[in-house]
Amino acid sequence: MQYADLILPLPLPGVFTYSVPLELQSVVFPGKIVIVQFGRKKSCPAVVKNIHNIKPEGYSVKDISSVPPGFPVILPVQIRFWEWLASYYMCPEGEVLKAALPGGLRPAGADSGVIKPKTESYLSLHPSVCSKDMISQLHAGLKRAPAQLKILTSYLQISGYTGAAKESPAIPKSLLAGTVPNSRGAVKALVDKSIFTETIRTVSRLRGTNAGLKEISRLNRFQEEALADIKEQFKTKEVVLLNGITSGGKTEIYIHLIKEQLEKGKQVLYLLPEIALTTQIIVRLKSIFSDIAGVYHSRFSDAERVEIWNKVLNKDDEGYKLILGARSSLFLPFSDLGLVIVDEEHENTFKQFDPAPRYNARDSATMLASMHGAKTLLGTATPSVESYFNAISGKYGLVNLLKRFEEMELPRVIIADTREARKKKTMKSLFTPQLLDAIQEVLDKGEQIILFQNRRGYAPFIECAECGWIPLCQNCDVSMTYHKSLNQLLCHYCGASFKPAALCPECGSHDIKTKGFGTEKIEDEVSLFFPSARVGRLDIDAARKKRAHEKIIGEFESGNLDILAGTQMIAKGLDFGKVSLVGILNADNLLFFPDFRAHERSFQLISQVSGRAGRKLKGGRVVIQTGFPGHPVIKNIIAGNFKKHFSEQLAERREFLYPPFVRLIRITIKDARKETVEKASATLAARLKKRFGSRVLGPEYPLVGRIQKRYVMNIMLKIEKGANLSAARTLITAEIERLHSLPGFRYCQVYPDVDPF
Ligand code: ADP
Ligand code: ZN
Ligand code: ZN
Repeated sequence: MQYADLILPLPLPGVFTYSVPLELQSVVFPGKIVIVQFGRKKSCPAVVKNIHNIKPEGYSVKDISSVPPGFPVILPVQIRFWEWLASYYMCPEGEVLKAALPGGLRPAGADSGVIKPKTESYLSLHPSVCSKDMISQLHAGLKRAPAQLKILTSYLQISGYTGAAKESPAIPKSLLAGTVPNSRGAVKALVDKSIFTETIRTVSRLRGTNAGLKEISRLNRFQEEALADIKEQFKTKEVVLLNGITSGGKTEIYIHLIKEQLEKGKQVLYLLPEIALTTQIIVRLKSIFSDIAGVYHSRFSDAERVEIWNKVLNKDDEGYKLILGARSSLFLPFSDLGLVIVDEEHENTFKQFDPAPRYNARDSATMLASMHGAKTLLGTATPSVESYFNAISGKYGLVNLLKRFEEMELPRVIIADTREARKKKTMKSLFTPQLLDAIQEVLDKGEQIILFQNRRGYAPFIECAECGWIPLCQNCDVSMTYHKSLNQLLCHYCGASFKPAALCPECGSHDIKTKGFGTEKIEDEVSLFFPSARVGRLDIDAARKKRAHEKIIGEFESGNLDILAGTQMIAKGLDFGKVSLVGILNADNLLFFPDFRAHERSFQLISQVSGRAGRKLKGGRVVIQTGFPGHPVIKNIIAGNFKKHFSEQLAERREFLYPPFVRLIRITIKDARKETVEKASATLAARLKKRFGSRVLGPEYPLVGRIQKRYVMNIMLKIEKGANLSAARTLITAEIERLHSLPGFRYCQVYPDVDPF
């Protein structure tokens, strides 16, 4: 008897063993997608992990029900990668499978088939009528069938066919629909009479942006040196960190490395932290690498994702050899990777927060690359403390690119003291006089401006001026954010919304004021001060509609907007030539955010947004509004001194025991009942303290202690470098299981997050 260990897309630990019926033995092998019965579920998809003949004990083994035809086989290297992710990030392989396989590759059961490629009918003239003579004869002959005649003339107009060539062009049938009443009947008659020939073609669901082939740029001296250095370092290191100044031309260096790999017949994965970024870069890449470059991210439909999956599997000319994508592209079926590039490696969006697997795509990328025998290049202008530490301690190679392309100067940083401006009463709404003056000057010159604020919406809360009443979310412990364009109060944690009342429900006062500000308010206010300026906004609210962010970026790029207000979405790697001013509206809510990475994040964000200024124009400026001009992070930003910033951060991390000196594992406990969460957390923490001693911190309520009607507590573990991590994981998993077996705690949600952000 043959048995198969299966991975099921369920949040349950371990694999599930089924028997392989004789008639299926030839088609069941590792990587196959099969259908099984699981519990009460009649047909559940599963992936075969391995085949053996050890009969499982203690339960009656069920047969695999069927093997649906037409699904791709999961490659061995993918299964190994899933296994590593599940074990490192402490989650069931089934949850990795759910994240890895697009819905379209998870057959729901016997009735669900493979997604059929979309087809379209094309019409051309039958070869026997392809001449000028025949066409004029047809005109005469169809006089009594006016609908058919109209279809014929429409065809000739659309296709531009005159009868001169031997063959007529095929045009989509849909183009002729609606040209006459009952166009279908008329077209059918023409096909039946052998005047038209109909052909069915498969069309790609993926819209191509296939520009003509462009020459690859020649690198300047500094880029050449960096490229040579990267290749040299790759001889001895698996991972190289490219620390390149903003607008130094990192992308061009990547392009040279990509070309080299593609010429060797290898695949390349290029990871980006933000979908908004793929638009600009894919145009650059497609213009050089044409159709072998593809994009992948979670915004695509299932059908599109299946199509990209198949194009990565496809080894011939039609396939993708270069994938540009967000973190989920790590799961594509690469068979022969030569290089993985992680651009803007410092970005926190590489970490998946929810649901499991809570993986960091940057760190996982280095593992995926090593499984393929490939190299990883991490690129950034502002390295993360972890990566830079790995580089200076010799684990990674380090390459510097210090000059901007065409030796453009970095923008000049101007500090605008908001506390002083308030004292002197020179603050106008959200703006210091320095920022207002700078905006006016730049508008006068016809150049562009970026205004950054790390909050979306109009105001983070509203408040009754009489009694201090603040509307809070009913499901979460946070205030509701006011969105003016929607005229709604929204919870950014659970999405709950309601219309703001005109009167305070507590005291009946009309005097309700907005407090603080988000991107929407900036957009509004800047339009008041500069009524003739064209102002746009880029944040997740504005980008929610499919392709909306592309439109906004395109409008700014083409000069149809003068000012772009946005959140961190605009901070990352975008390349706009005409921006000469960047305004940071409020640096303080970055600097004083209660998190051990707040300073690191402030330095990164402010330097990155600043890097959008003066890329192609001289005299770029950055105005930073802050109440704390003497703050060490602000000083390092003004001086552009990454090394000093890094050593200060590292010293703090060493003193207070944070990464890279320890590894963090955060355990989150959630339940609808406050008492349950508190008891369960205390019980788990006490057990863990017995095992791990003072390495265990908490339990504690996080900043937002209730989300979506459920109370949340965290326990933090700090595991020193060099400790046996897999033993620690096993212990933690066992304690979580034990907690779940106790009465009262069975349904409380408990999950670990390894290397949390
Ligand atoms: P980074 O990613 O380092 O911020 P980019 O790669 O976006 O910088 O380069 C900045 C700008 O300089 C881009 O507009 C790019 O097209 C241009 N550029 C960089 N290197 C070259 C080169 N070797 N030849 C022509 N243009 C270049
Ligand atoms: Zn009130
Ligand atoms: Zn809420």
